[in-house]
Amino acid sequence: MKVRILGCGPSYGVPSLSRGYGECNPNNPKNIRLRTAMLLTTEYGNIVFDTGPEIRQQLIAAGTPKIDAVVYTHAHYDHMGGAEDLRKALGNTDAPQPLPVYLTHTDEREFRNLLYFAFKPIVDTPLFDIRNIKPYQEFDINGLKIFPIKQYHDINNTNISIGYRIKDFAYSTDVKKMDEEGFEALKGIKTWILGVTTPTQNPKHINLEEALEWIERIKPQRVFLTHMGTRMDYDTLCQKLPPHIRPVYDGMEIDIE
Ligand SMILES: [Zn+2]
Repeated sequence: MKVRILGCGPSYGVPSLSRGYGECNPNNPKNIRLRTAMLLTTEYGNIVFDTGPEIRQQLIAAGTPKIDAVVYTHAHYDHMGGAEDLRKALGNTDAPQPLPVYLTHTDEREFRNLLYFAFKPIVDTPLFDIRNIKPYQEFDINGLKIFPIKQYHDINNTNISIGYRIKDFAYSTDVKKMDEEGFEALKGIKTWILGVTTPTQNPKHINLEEALEWIERIKPQRVFLTHMGTRMDYDTLCQKLPPHIRPVYDGMEIDIE
């Protein structure tokens, strides 16, 4: 399997309209971060995780791969706002097949609201084939087994997001807390992509201090940080962190067993 980081930015991107580059060095292109999304290339097909508002340019930069399915972590704009562009991409062939989209029942409501025009009765061929998933209930995409993990996206446990384990790899972004069951499900992973937006504080995402505690607990061989905000300078992180923990950058590719 191979992962391509389509984007590793926070909801506001780096540079952001209000904060610019913040503490990130503007001369390092690795600090230019589009909204967080990932492409997983496998023998079972190509799966996109999240479709933020920049998904079109991210997939073009990836060489316009054929997309076999989309998996959503949660229904925030920075993770779902570009879904309409997939609809356009599907319309490009003579016989477009509905695109399988995996998400929770709650996120499906948001998805339908966002793309209400794609679900109007005048559309003859359905554009999306919606498939509901539930935390801790394994599903498969063309035979590739995927295990969804419940995450809390804030300190009050009101907002749920989903992390995913695929073999010994896990993708956990937009997470502030997890139940014991979540940590248990991550046991034995070798490669972990973890969303860490700020070095300290943050009510919605684990910060770097918390991430280091989680990493110590799970002990994966390699950790890659994503969803990084304007306080997370690439070179500063590389110097500060042990070699098995690295920040990612847009366009980075990671080989996974
Ligand atoms: Zn986000």
